[in-house]
Amino acid sequence: MSLDLIPLSWQPHDGRRHAYPGSPRVEGVAVTSLCQVPLIVRWYPPQSEEWLWPECDACHVAAQARAEQAQLDRLRPIEISLPSFGT
Ligand SMILES: [Zn+2]
Repeated sequence: MSLDLIPLSWQPHDGRRHAYPGSPRVEGVAVTSLCQVPLIVRWYPPQSEEWLWPECDACHVAAQARAEQAQLDRLRPIEISLPSFGT
């Protein structure tokens, strides 16, 4: 089973929330944020103030671009090749 059912996860780090590719990893795993900062995944309870830290601007922009790309990929028409007649 793929770990990446969702395109990215957010991680509070150093006063900002950064995003890294894929589903949330377990605590202690090293990941690289979308803004190329190496992070160690740390678990924070949902009500903790770290989740209120501002989003990293570079990660925000990169996350938005990924979301838009994912949407475009879904909208891409399906290519169907039909046998041609009369040629
Ligand atoms: Zn970042």
